[in-house]
Amino acid sequence: MPILVSNQLKKDFQVGESVTKVLKGVDLSINEGEFVVILGPSGSGKSTMLNIIGGIETITSGELFYRDEKIHEMKAADLIEYRRKHIGFVFQFYNLLPNLSALENVTVAAELSEHPLDAREMLVRVGLEDRMDHYPSGMSGGQQQRVAIARALCKNPDLLLCDEPTGALDIRTGEEVLTLLSEYNREHHTTIIMVTHNVLIAQIADRVIRFRDGVIDRVEVNEKPMRPDEVEW
Ligand code: ADP
Ligand code: MG
Repeated sequence: MPILVSNQLKKDFQVGESVTKVLKGVDLSINEGEFVVILGPSGSGKSTMLNIIGGIETITSGELFYRDEKIHEMKAADLIEYRRKHIGFVFQFYNLLPNLSALENVTVAAELSEHPLDAREMLVRVGLEDRMDHYPSGMSGGQQQRVAIARALCKNPDLLLCDEPTGALDIRTGEEVLTLLSEYNREHHTTIIMVTHNVLIAQIADRVIRFRDGVIDRVEVNEKPMRPDEVEW
């Protein structure tokens, strides 16, 4: 049974007098526990799609279901509640609070959740047991992204949404972050939707959804997804 389904989902942005059609009728279905990569060139609408799935962008027309909840009919307050309950978000540039330590960044997110996981345990899980009291400015990009992943995961989300999570990292550090995410998916069956323009990352996904110019161009199933350390980056 799918956890997420969209039917003819469309999104227009109005800038001044002109309207840009960004999503032009997206039909997708994501299964529970899947590790899905949404692949496509810059400007093809990937981030817009992910933001709509995460309840931080509204829908112009069409339908989006999370299980039997109609996201397309939700008002702002319902979207906030949906996001708080079900969604974890990881961004390219981490978006940590600079004046809080790693542990405090994770704890703040955990406190907003109904059934949070332990913040310290989550930081141990991402390999930061000796960095809990460090501030973002004193951490490498890879460490900051690990904090951001711990922050997203400690909400115990049903859907983990990652927008170019390795886009600001070097190849080796990026591989480590992808290993962390794919191992978490295998161990906990948390559904992951990852957006990227990096075609190599598609090799680690269960399924690859290719976007082109605001529509789905092609969907591919990987019978044997690679581990990140098996990919020739
Ligand atoms: P991708 O993540 O695939 O690079 P985006 O979803 O970020 O693509 O953007 C797709 C298109 O939508 C781009 O042309 C972008 O300029 C436009 N767009 C995105 N967000 C907005 C916005 N808030 N207002 C106006 N146009 C936007
Ligand atoms: Mg983007």
